[in-house]
Amino acid sequence: MKTIFSGIQPSGMITIGNYIGALKQFVALQNEYNCYFCIVDQHAITVPQDPKTLQKNIRSLAALYLAVGLDPNKATLFIQSEVPAHAQAAWMLQCISYIGELERMTQFKDKSAGKEAVSAGLLTYPPLMAADILLYSADLVPVGDDQKQHIELTRDLAERFNKKYNDIFTIPDIHLPKVGARIMSLQEPTKKMSKSDPNQKGFISMLDEPKQIEKKIKSAVTDSDGVVKFDKENKPGVSNLMSIYSIFGNISIEDLEKKYEGKGYGVFKTDLAEVIINALQPIQDRYKELIDSDELDNILDEGAEKAALVANKMLRKMEKAMGLGRKR
Ligand code: ATP
Ligand code: MG
Repeated sequence: MKTIFSGIQPSGMITIGNYIGALKQFVALQNEYNCYFCIVDQHAITVPQDPKTLQKNIRSLAALYLAVGLDPNKATLFIQSEVPAHAQAAWMLQCISYIGELERMTQFKDKSAGKEAVSAGLLTYPPLMAADILLYSADLVPVGDDQKQHIELTRDLAERFNKKYNDIFTIPDIHLPKVGARIMSLQEPTKKMSKSDPNQKGFISMLDEPKQIEKKIKSAVTDSDGVVKFDKENKPGVSNLMSIYSIFGNISIEDLEKKYEGKGYGVFKTDLAEVIINALQPIQDRYKELIDSDELDNILDEGAEKAALVANKMLRKMEKAMGLGRKR
């Protein structure tokens, strides 16, 4: 059975972009693959986080993983910092990474742009991500297409390590969703939707109330020609809303174009808000049951234990290959 690894940062409330690009895929994949899903809290602290909020977001993300349908009997769910092998392996991978290649990462450029103080962790984020993936010998990494470059770097690092030391790493492939690999901001449809966007109107969170969803969709940026037609280049706002509709409403883009032919954006947006609200309702209900439960803690404890068994084995192999510690 092939192995999958993927992670999400507890850097804010999960958006429908994260759901479509990542979570929704995870649920579909858990039946066919040996899956490891991670709450990557060590990635989150590469930019400033308030400790109390971070704690809340970690728990909330764990509950959401389960609320969307992840089954802990099928997939291993755990928190990155609770498996220390990730940070240990990341150090070794940092030592074979070049500053130049890390500085070329677009996420680093985007997240450091205009900032006075940029953490070294933001630069070395990709080797930590590579460690996450390589420790589990993952064959596939389901992510949104914003992570393409990081997966390519992970492959480069794995190949470099294999060649230089010992052939221990599986070279992972990216697994992109067919539709919705990049959901865009509702306010700036040429920018990807992000949970850490300071403009709350740019994203819909998985826990938004119906009223908030209606408001955000209503104020989503479109264009002035009033035609519901998919054209990413010239109509990025409308096309983005159509992608969201298509996924949550289970309807093809073509059928959407037919359905709203001759109708304006008003009806389209009202319907879209309803489609999203209905899709999120059962997830939100389940989330409420889980968030303060012991069940959640038990699942995370067991997950960390299971993950550590696999991760520690690979960590020893890495240390041995690089000649760290003593021969045992
Ligand atoms: P941050 O702004 O803190 O980086 P984020 O919204 O980008 O948050 P991540 O934790 O970085 O979320 O990514 C989690 C997963 O969600 C990744 O697989 C990523 O590719 C996917 N993802 C993030 N944003 C989108 C998006 N707009 N559309 C589709 N997938 C996305
Ligand atoms: Mg991100």
